[in-house]
Amino acid sequence: MTGKIIKGIGGLYYVDVEDRGLYACRAKGIFRKKKIKPNVGDTVEIEILDEKDREGNLTVIHERKNQLVRPMVANVDQALVVFSFKDPEPNYHLLNCFLIMMESQGIPVIICMNKCDLADPEAMETFREDYRGSGCRLCFISALKEEGLDEVRELIRGRTTVMAGPSGVGKSSLLNALCGQKQMETGSVSRKIRRGRHTTRHSELIPVGHGTYLMDTPGFSSLALPAMDREKLKSCFAEFEPYEGKCRFLDCCHENEPDCAVKQAVETGDISLHRYKEYLAFLEEIRQQKKW
Ligand code: GDP
Ligand code: ZN
Repeated sequence: MTGKIIKGIGGLYYVDVEDRGLYACRAKGIFRKKKIKPNVGDTVEIEILDEKDREGNLTVIHERKNQLVRPMVANVDQALVVFSFKDPEPNYHLLNCFLIMMESQGIPVIICMNKCDLADPEAMETFREDYRGSGCRLCFISALKEEGLDEVRELIRGRTTVMAGPSGVGKSSLLNALCGQKQMETGSVSRKIRRGRHTTRHSELIPVGHGTYLMDTPGFSSLALPAMDREKLKSCFAEFEPYEGKCRFLDCCHENEPDCAVKQAVETGDISLHRYKEYLAFLEEIRQQKKW
């Protein structure tokens, strides 16, 4: 029987089998011998030992499509990053850092802008313009007013999605709405408890049904840019791609070089100035990394 590991605690792996539910499974010795450690997100075959007690054995781990390290989860289809237009206002540098992290691992990102009920329409339009070329899907929602949620439901259906975002943006509210049941308490008090819990918490996927899985990650307030070179950084900005190879210098950083196609595109407005400035800030950051 095929299922998906949604959590692993103390040598027990909880496997979700569609239409049948959870089984607590142990890994057979063969995995230990082969030094394969079952992972949350793994697609596995299980044999049922006891249907009543819902116990089984893992017999096969299917090949992984990818493997994230933070959070520890395999076979991620996409990331959904939540920010809000107001309360708190978006930290763009943090958002872009997240986008680079995911882009550098080849994980597509949905940017979910929440609290649209509080947002000024002009700010929303500016955001849409700035991130149009980013290669990310943009969603404008209000978890509170339940607006725009059907689009998000559609985007996560049948997929495994990692959710992330700074605290206070409404990530729990959105998660509750998507799970169709009260998975977590919203509000500041419970947030505090959750933060405490997160320090020891294991990664866990929430089965939403029909092959849809969500993973909540702790709210972050800062992220470390992964170590990377200039070429890699450039490749994380999808809007530069059409200008690839069109600068005078092949190794152009799109910074101070003459005849730079990217800078020209920024001047004509074909590339967003906001995103270009973010790029320059990250370029500086990786230079600092190098000095270390
Ligand atoms: P989290 O820290 O990201 O998990 O955020 P919560 O889901 O706990 O929400 C933080 C606060 O924002 C709570 O007071 C929510 O009621 C509020 N909130 C969440 N979504 C919205 C929204 O779409 N509009 C407005 N106005 N408030 C929201
Ligand atoms: Zn250039």
